[in-house]
Amino acid sequence: MNQPRSGMMPLRQHIAGDSSTNMSAQILDGKAIAAELRVQIKGRVDDRRAAGQRPPGLIVILVGENPASQVYVRNKRNACEQVGFHSELMQLPADTSEAGLLAIIDELNARDNVDGILVQLPLPAQIDEGTVTERILPTKDVDGFHPYNVGRLVLRQPLLRPCTPKGVMTMLAHTGIDLSGKDAVIIGQSNIVGRPMFLELLMARCTVTVCHSRTRDLPAKVRAADIVVAAVGVPRFVKADWVKPGAIVIDVGINRLEDGGLCGDVDTVPVSEVAGWITPVPGGVGPMTVATLLENTLLAAELHDKPRS
Ligand code: NAP
Repeated sequence: MNQPRSGMMPLRQHIAGDSSTNMSAQILDGKAIAAELRVQIKGRVDDRRAAGQRPPGLIVILVGENPASQVYVRNKRNACEQVGFHSELMQLPADTSEAGLLAIIDELNARDNVDGILVQLPLPAQIDEGTVTERILPTKDVDGFHPYNVGRLVLRQPLLRPCTPKGVMTMLAHTGIDLSGKDAVIIGQSNIVGRPMFLELLMARCTVTVCHSRTRDLPAKVRAADIVVAAVGVPRFVKADWVKPGAIVIDVGINRLEDGGLCGDVDTVPVSEVAGWITPVPGGVGPMTVATLLENTLLAAELHDKPRS
């Protein structure tokens, strides 16, 4: 096994003041890894400016006033500012029609200083998410949700990759572990996390099992895994006695608790006594998703710079 890279520390140090438990897992610190990624991205933006090129441009479209979406959008725009991107927020009323939104996307598709278009989901009921996703030019689809980009991932020719699974792959790279031949289990088969996560891990030559609500004997499947990715949306769903000693446990879940706090889909403290590596919530996969959006927007800008044949 290789030496772990930066962004990792023992979990005991991470959860300040907790000396009562026998934690052994190394923490994969998404906040630290995302900060490192942002520094790299900012360096490339500075190089672009020095070479007389414009900064990458991201347009975020928010329809309606969903409070969680407002927080996500604010985080994404702040991250853009930190790395020197041009970013704009288009805040549209909740009763915006599908035709109205599609017309805005057409305009943005044609604008030369727009590299990425992100339509924050979920959308109000009168707007079909699939129609909107397909209207965005694949080279401006920085969420990586367009069927073209999903198809590229299926064919092992990725272009713009869904942000959360790609961010997880960046975290896994920080363990220094060779993923080839490892057994991976993903809990959840959504279009934005579980399915693209399957394709990413398969591309890394893992043997991958995707589980969902109809999966039989889930604990036994998880127990066989060297890598577990939980994307279920159920607080503290993955239990310590499901986890193989030394496994890498990636917690994608973000669940709001009654007391206002956040927790993931993994029962973090007991699981960290068994796992070899674990991601915290908050401060794990969430910051990586945002940093990967920046990575995708920079890649889109570089694609747009290239002369089209
Ligand atoms: P989703 O679309 O609701 O999918 C949940 C998946 O979990 C489904 O495939 C479902 O199975 C499966 N599932 C539900 N209950 C189960 C059970 N008892 N046993 C086994 N499988 C079960 O959720 P999502 O959009 O993928 O999100 C999952 C979690 O990740 C949420 O907490 C979300 O907030 C979080 N998230 C975080 C980020 C981030 O940046 N950190 C990004 C996206 C999502 P079926 O398909 O059979 O129904």
